[in-house]
Amino acid sequence: MSSAVVVSSENLDEKQQSVSMPVVHAVEKKVNLLGMSRAELEKFFEDLGEKKFRAGQVMKWMHQYFVTDFAEMSNISGKLREKLEKICEIKAPEVVHRNYSKDGTRKWVFRVGDGEGSLVETVLIPAEDKTGARKTLCISSQVGCALDCSFCSTGKQGFQRDLTPAEIIGQLWMANYSYMEDVPVAERERTVTNVVMMGMGEPLLNYDAVLSSMQLMLDDFAYGMSKRRVTLSTSGVVPKIDQLAQDIDVALAISLHAPNDELRNELVPINKKYPLQQLIAACQRYLAKDGNESSRRHVTIEYVMLDGVNDKPEHAQQLLKLLKNLPSKINLIPFNPFPHAPYGRSSRNRIIAFQKTLSDAGFVCTIRQTRGDDIDAACGQLVGQVADRTRRAEQWKKKVAQRQEILRTQG
Ligand code: SF4
Repeated sequence: MSSAVVVSSENLDEKQQSVSMPVVHAVEKKVNLLGMSRAELEKFFEDLGEKKFRAGQVMKWMHQYFVTDFAEMSNISGKLREKLEKICEIKAPEVVHRNYSKDGTRKWVFRVGDGEGSLVETVLIPAEDKTGARKTLCISSQVGCALDCSFCSTGKQGFQRDLTPAEIIGQLWMANYSYMEDVPVAERERTVTNVVMMGMGEPLLNYDAVLSSMQLMLDDFAYGMSKRRVTLSTSGVVPKIDQLAQDIDVALAISLHAPNDELRNELVPINKKYPLQQLIAACQRYLAKDGNESSRRHVTIEYVMLDGVNDKPEHAQQLLKLLKNLPSKINLIPFNPFPHAPYGRSSRNRIIAFQKTLSDAGFVCTIRQTRGDDIDAACGQLVGQVADRTRRAEQWKKKVAQRQEILRTQG
């Protein structure tokens, strides 16, 4: 996170600092405080000649009361508020589209960057659980994605750029704010209970920004979320899974989608670089890092159900074998076809049979409810009608047709 403060108190001695505040002039491009970690914000205030504790105060205003106007920060002196207004801002990405479904699902499309910018999408899915009402936010980490998973509409956009911490945490800020905008500031509270880093992009390929955003999610001066309620979902960037284990304690989910290397190479091409054996071993190391006090008791396995592709009884058997030494919960996801998708959704009966095989073997295996269909909010449909800039769907369809032809001629 860059900091563009125009003056600093670094060169003032202690006495000078206590009697004179640095003169601050308005700047052309203001510093956005929204994505700054506590340490960055403390340094920011120290550079201004202020005490470090101001960071915690401003963080609470931003992330717990959803205040963006410094004038409303009543426990901060008028002089400091004026100074802050001149040089910094608190800014979530611009919402260009929002849609709230009848079932409670909410979707936002954000513009990130200047001018026309690029679009990313965030989806909030409500559900009842043992602890009451759960609100899970699916957050994007990149514009587009380089990994080209064949069932994913985001992959078809190709990669455009990484999101900044302010753009990542800004999605959580906006989702919370959407419930609080008409509530008086003093009565506002944080509403989103769970976060999954599972939107557009591969979060482990935008590692630093994702890590510092997740640190804000866990920070008591910001969102104060439980580490078990923040989940990072990866398609399997093995070295970064090991790094994550060292840097933060959050839950881990793997976008697996296939039980053998041959099929996974087709569905999730990063598998060619980090095949299943390496991936499962990295998950085992991740769980072994800390004891039971951590959020690392199991890995969540995401498995999209593609009709006739990965949903057969033999695939369920292969999955059992693959996961036998990995504490895991399996989440079966009915595929949501998007325009030109080369796959269809597995039948309900097929999904239930698949689930039964896994449950009978002792795995906790759930079927994800399809939510928000009326607003195109389901996973894999990010940014609505995605332009197939890379023509990947077309290439894939050709490949499938060729394969069918070979099978046909082989009789
Ligand atoms: S499934 Fe995830 S990693 Fe794969 S292309 Fe889509 S966004 Fe990227």
